Amino acid sequence: MRIHHLNCGTMRPYGIPRKDGTGGFFARGEGMIHCLLVETGEGLALVDTGWGLGDYLEPSFAVGFFMDFCGFARDPEKTAARRVARLGCDPADVKHIFLTHMHLDHAGGLPDFPKAIVHLAAPELKACLDPQTIMERFAYRPEHQAHGPQWQAHTLSGGRWFGFECAPPIRIGEAEFVMIPFAGHTRGHAAVAVRTDDGWLLHCGDLYVYPPQVEPARPYKYPNGALMEAIITTGFHMPRRHWATLRDLLRDHGDEVRAFCSHAVW
Ligand SMILES: [Zn+2]
Repeated sequence: MRIHHLNCGTMRPYGIPRKDGTGGFFARGEGMIHCLLVETGEGLALVDTGWGLGDYLEPSFAVGFFMDFCGFARDPEKTAARRVARLGCDPADVKHIFLTHMHLDHAGGLPDFPKAIVHLAAPELKACLDPQTIMERFAYRPEHQAHGPQWQAHTLSGGRWFGFECAPPIRIGEAEFVMIPFAGHTRGHAAVAVRTDDGWLLHCGDLYVYPPQVEPARPYKYPNGALMEAIITTGFHMPRRHWATLRDLLRDHGDEVRAFCSHAVW
């Protein structure tokens, strides 16, 4: 089983630290959209899609606005569809997509894989099909669902993963995926764990944006100051209680779990 880390978007948003930890309130940082491509015996699986071809080539007003706001380079070569093809795989072989959440920069590629089964937490599907707040109406884009995805909504309970309540593992060929609920950033935000030959990769989506927020070894300090941290965590609903939980997990099981988030440069 092979796993590929894909960068499906390069971004230069204000306030987000650069990889070396430097940055400032009025400085452009650097970020990416981190997706996984998993080759299984039963086709390909993606974890998050990033932007889709339509987003880069003919963005809706909302998508274009958000891309400019975050300083995204509009480069269709960064889409998961083109990335998959460049790896020598057929995008039509993408049979499963696991989503941390349905926000526009994570699910924009769904129309490029219209036949894939889309796995997500049940509350997330409910939120994107029936958005309630201004933020939900903005960030869940109708154009990303207009093709009628084959939803597979999961109730994230009944299983256990390192002590976390989660959905029972989903097996695709020899690959194993575990969806762990971390609601907050969205109603049904989840982390997606993928079993590898030497432990687990944990895709944390938008649970955090800056790795020291959850790293047990490095004391947490946001380089842009408390104000920026407050804007990011409050504005984007990233609950700090999850960081403490993740830090505990990585302290106790750091040799078995490798965590990363969507937007920090890998
Ligand atoms: Zn995001």
